[in-house]
Amino acid sequence: MIVPIKKYFQNGVIMSKMIEDIFSFDEVQEDCIKCGKCIPVCTIHIVNPDEVTSPRGFIDLLGAYKQGNLDLDKNAKDIFESCFLCTNCVDVCPKDLPVDMIIEQVRSDIAEKFGIAWYKRAFFLLLRYRWLNDIAFKLGWAFQTCGFKIKGDIDSMHSRLNLPIIKTDRLMPSLRKTSFLNAHPENIDNGGKRKVAIFIGCLANYNYRDVGDSLLEILEALEIDAFLAKSQKCCSAPAYFTGDFGTVDSLAKFNIEYFEGFSKDVEAIIVPEATCSAMLKIDYEHYFHDQPEWKARAKAIMSKVYMATEWLQNHTELEALLASKKKVPKLVTYHDPCHARKMQGIHEEPRNLVRQNYNIVEMSDSNACCGFGGITMQTEKYHFAKAAGIPKAAMIEKTGAEIVSAECSACRMQINNAMGVESKTIFKNPIELIAEALRD
Ligand code: SF4
Ligand code: SF4
Repeated sequence: MIVPIKKYFQNGVIMSKMIEDIFSFDEVQEDCIKCGKCIPVCTIHIVNPDEVTSPRGFIDLLGAYKQGNLDLDKNAKDIFESCFLCTNCVDVCPKDLPVDMIIEQVRSDIAEKFGIAWYKRAFFLLLRYRWLNDIAFKLGWAFQTCGFKIKGDIDSMHSRLNLPIIKTDRLMPSLRKTSFLNAHPENIDNGGKRKVAIFIGCLANYNYRDVGDSLLEILEALEIDAFLAKSQKCCSAPAYFTGDFGTVDSLAKFNIEYFEGFSKDVEAIIVPEATCSAMLKIDYEHYFHDQPEWKARAKAIMSKVYMATEWLQNHTELEALLASKKKVPKLVTYHDPCHARKMQGIHEEPRNLVRQNYNIVEMSDSNACCGFGGITMQTEKYHFAKAAGIPKAAMIEKTGAEIVSAECSACRMQINNAMGVESKTIFKNPIELIAEALRD
């Protein structure tokens, strides 16, 4: 039986991917009709207009590689690492070709052949062990002012020195003294009859802590108990996009087993982060395509995972509660994270909650990728990430909004940097905006 394993949303219609589509490179190559519809929307092609760095170029090269006609040499590695995995191409492709997924697979071959850079290995090691991560981030917090100037109002910092990857004009997330998970008790009783678990994600845990704190405020207002699931580990998205499948295997199996242990006690596992939520809900199942037992377990857990605004909009009275509160005289523009709108079909839910109290102005292309692209793109290929961020920052500035919002901390890091330290527009997760409106 052919099993659909990935869903994309086109004009409100759910498009399913079949497992055979994803892992038969030859068929994908033949299926591409070279119509070119993907070219104008391809994030890498926009900043590097070359046929080899385009969806159909990637498909041709991957087909040649799988047929033994192309060596996986440094040039091929360089090309395959240039994709932002934004899924813009999948969104418009009339053949519904899963370019992002076949690139994720070939990156595992690249990692096996070339190894993984030492700094990425060190980072992935931290992700595997929360206690180590806690120590590293605490040390980072203690010493961050030595090397960086802190912009506390936007949880960001920029380097005092021009270093190879970290330039003085580059804004990066600053660290908090205490992580979200360490700042609160594991069980929070809001006197309610309902209970949800929170999966917070690494950036919101260590850097953008107001996201989690705001989510707790919202649950308190709704009288819904919270379980912080303190043993949770990174969803593994950074390792998955880099091809480090050993780390993905370890983290995904740990999280699935852990979630199984408490899932019957909670209504949902809510995630205020698009990338983590897409990883748990969708990419775990892909990753386990050749491990049937784990694939089934991932699928069972997936049914309990929701993006935070998705669950709050569709399963609570939050919208009515917000409608009873005062209007906040601030103009907000909403950016659609690739992992929310294109992968999970979530775009109306955050807007609907935010518009109860704020005026929303749409930017010219809210669906255009912000250009975050993952660790490789943020380090070795930072020039591409920077170039992709410029048009996104320009369309945000053009709206005149005081706040740009997106339910994704990776987008936050990229958009903050693209807008720069002088920008008057500040970034807020919709969860922070909702909590602010409830306070009034
Ligand atoms: S839109 Fe799809 S079918 Fe058309 S060129 Fe791009 S990948 Fe090929
Ligand atoms: S996933 Fe994005 S960057 Fe990669 S080929 Fe598709 S549109 Fe281009």
